[in-house]
Amino acid sequence: MSESNRRTFLKSVGGTGVALTVAGCLGGGGDGDGSTTTGTTGDGTTGDTTTTEDVTTITPGTASGFPPFEFVNESGDLVGFDIDLLSAVVEQTDGYELGSWEDLEFNQLIVALQNDNIDVVAAAMTINEERDQTIDFTDPYYDANQAVLVREGGSFQPESTDDLADHPVGAQSGTTGKDQMDALVEEGTISSSQANTYENYVLAVQDLANGNIDAVIVDTPVAETFVANRDVVISFTIETGEQYGFGVRENDDELQSALNEGLQAVQDNGTYAELTEEWFASE
Ligand code: GLN
Repeated sequence: MSESNRRTFLKSVGGTGVALTVAGCLGGGGDGDGSTTTGTTGDGTTGDTTTTEDVTTITPGTASGFPPFEFVNESGDLVGFDIDLLSAVVEQTDGYELGSWEDLEFNQLIVALQNDNIDVVAAAMTINEERDQTIDFTDPYYDANQAVLVREGGSFQPESTDDLADHPVGAQSGTTGKDQMDALVEEGTISSSQANTYENYVLAVQDLANGNIDAVIVDTPVAETFVANRDVVISFTIETGEQYGFGVRENDDELQSALNEGLQAVQDNGTYAELTEEWFASE
């Protein structure tokens, strides 16, 4: 908890690139892809086991452009809270190790999971009924609502969804923010031609800053990150009570339980708190 501990920790987790490199190198170490092995180690209590036998390499998938959960930094590396969290969680499991990340579009992640192109989704994905019908989720690991972003210092400062009437709005394809935008169209607050869909939220916020649209609907923690880095502000929020989970294939119960246990372990050992401090600190 001391300052120096935190610094040491930040140094170690700051090396996400290192973790990725290591994971990449281990790619050939598994004995045959898809051979799921039954974990036989009796105690999962010490983090010091170095056994590399019978380890299944899983391919994680994400969709960058969603800071601070997953984005490409100035050096071109895929980084973020989800990247570090999933790595820490998988490290806590006995039978799994992470392979290289696949960076896809958000609305392709579920299909990629179903097609076995990836084995786990770590993309700030909200657990909801519709998705739960096709994939499974781990226990929730982060809470969010929706925020409405507008230009900083602009004359348009809506206070409710009604105030968005007849203004061009934007959201990322396939998201819960897009669901909110669709609802505005359904209720007739905006026309369908005023509902703009983007491949990712970085592009949506760029269009907002450029004046092409007047508002972006996006998850609150991501909105706060854009506020810190762009000339935009949160005008108001919509309480949606969302929770993010890691996604796995429906029949992948073993992986699902392993990830749930790993999540519990990183919450218990302080890693989760350290990661939130690193990626969500207000300054
Ligand atoms: N949480 C939102 C959703 O699940 C947005 C996720 C994202 O854009 N990565 O739809």
